[in-house]
Amino acid sequence: MFNICPACGAYTPDKKVVHAKPKSRAICPDCGHAHSFLGLPILFLTGPSGVGKSTIGLMLQQSCPDVVVMESDLFWIAPLQNETTTRTELMLRVAKNIMQAGKPVLIVGVALPQHFAQSIEKRYFSAMHYLALTSEDAILRKRLQARPEWRQCGTEAFIQPQLQFNQWLKENAANRTPPIQLLDNGNLTIDKTHQLVVTWIRETL
Ligand SMILES: [Zn+2]
Repeated sequence: MFNICPACGAYTPDKKVVHAKPKSRAICPDCGHAHSFLGLPILFLTGPSGVGKSTIGLMLQQSCPDVVVMESDLFWIAPLQNETTTRTELMLRVAKNIMQAGKPVLIVGVALPQHFAQSIEKRYFSAMHYLALTSEDAILRKRLQARPEWRQCGTEAFIQPQLQFNQWLKENAANRTPPIQLLDNGNLTIDKTHQLVVTWIRETL
């Protein structure tokens, strides 16, 4: 739909995009025809496993009508498991279609600016904003070990990469483009974390 020019029929995923309010424009490189669309920001709630992303995401779906909350796990399907680019581009294409109804999409899952460095689809969003939940290592470890055994999150093989990601975020979030906002929730209740995430969403939008 987005990729086919309504004037000349050319198929172009990487149209030139000009963001403006109330409508942005996507311009066909073949004939110059511009079709308008709603170019909104996309938001990401990221962070290591065990930090509370899913719990907060579930709460936001009920409490925060400002955004459409979508989990990145939706795209973690067998044919795409090793197809990172296809998976992230599909996720952005779905978000792009959803936002045409007037609401930005908030993706819950592991996502970082560098994952979209080569993305064709990111041009359709007026901005990309990231909030990472982090915690103290000991608290994160305890939360992962407390998960039901069938989830297999209590092993060192699972825990160590999560602790590394937790640390990486603390050291590198500020120097990303765009910078990743951090919210350390080690000493916060889930309700307080939820409240701060809602505040971040509203301030960001
Ligand atoms: Zn055209």
